[in-house]
Amino acid sequence: MAQLSPAMRALVQPHLVDIEPYDPKFTPTSINLSANENTYPLPAGVRDAIDAALASTPLNRYPDPLSGELRAELARWHGLEPEQVCVGNGGDELLFNVMLAFGGRGRALVTCPPDFSEYAFFASLVETETLSVARDPESFAPRVDDLVRAAQAANLVIVTSPNNPTGDLFPLDAVERLCDACQGIVLVDEAYGEFADEGTSAVPLLARHGNLVVLKTLSKAFGAAGIRCGYVLAAPDVIEVFSAVRQIYSVNVLTQAAALAAVRARDVYAPVVAQIRAERERLSVALSSLLARTAPEPLGHVWPSQGNFLLVRVPEAGNVRERLRDEYSILVRDFSYAPGLSNCLRITVGTPEENDAVLAALTELLEEDAS
Ligand code: PMP
Repeated sequence: MAQLSPAMRALVQPHLVDIEPYDPKFTPTSINLSANENTYPLPAGVRDAIDAALASTPLNRYPDPLSGELRAELARWHGLEPEQVCVGNGGDELLFNVMLAFGGRGRALVTCPPDFSEYAFFASLVETETLSVARDPESFAPRVDDLVRAAQAANLVIVTSPNNPTGDLFPLDAVERLCDACQGIVLVDEAYGEFADEGTSAVPLLARHGNLVVLKTLSKAFGAAGIRCGYVLAAPDVIEVFSAVRQIYSVNVLTQAAALAAVRARDVYAPVVAQIRAERERLSVALSSLLARTAPEPLGHVWPSQGNFLLVRVPEAGNVRERLRDEYSILVRDFSYAPGLSNCLRITVGTPEENDAVLAALTELLEEDAS
């Protein structure tokens, strides 16, 4: 809200006067690899199942506030009770609600940046102090001992696995250490969890840790970012808090119907996820060899990723992003503005054709710059 008039500045709460609206820096392009969406078509039959569910959903009634059917299906999938699930209008709503409920003035959130910028943003909306325990500047490995120390005095800890934008997993033994150390809530954001290796989810730890919350979304692996549906898994008393602070009807009837159809079809997404994982490796190998030729370390680098995206350092990333957009109609995300990420682009893993296009374009741009 940088351009607020003096009159508005006087009206709005003092801690909100300089907050900027979130800008995903979206411009229409032929290929959009900027927002870590799933760019594949929905698996055969899923779109029809969703359309049929939408068509038979009455619009004149208010939604079920707690998304009962969807909640039960999600609980079945994860081997939990429905009382351990709260559905939200995207993961974003649940991230805001966790701050609303467990943060607030005089309270502290511990984060592990570079990470998802919304954590600190939502914390600031409710006057929660953010204590950042920065990752190693080169490998981006989290500093677990420092995090555990900070967690002892925090009301809330958020770690991301796989992390956006660095792509690495947060180790499960470190999650357990944080749960033991923190008196408050430890949230593991697994928005990209379906793209990670098996056995890396924190969900099984819920049985041992009453202060653990795992966040999931249908925006990534399920290819349903547009319907706005995320959920948290936690102990029943923690879910009661999420249920109490939420806006009653935030998950509308169409979202509930579409999400239920998608989650019921969860098994047919496996080939798409497998293909994205395979494409991630292909893109990573190809980009690494391109950078070795055109911009050797430390100028160029590709970090390993367990998500559906790659973090890539290239010389003059801002310029490369603009030329990809303007000359090739390909949109990727430039993270140069973020502390510790200068010259870093985040490229969503797309379809084979999209990945070929971004590789061809980057080859031309980087070879031109190197010659
Ligand atoms: N967590 C992380 C790490 C994300 O990257 C995102 C979306 N970019 C979200 C949560 C929220 O996703 P959504 O609101 O679409 O569910």
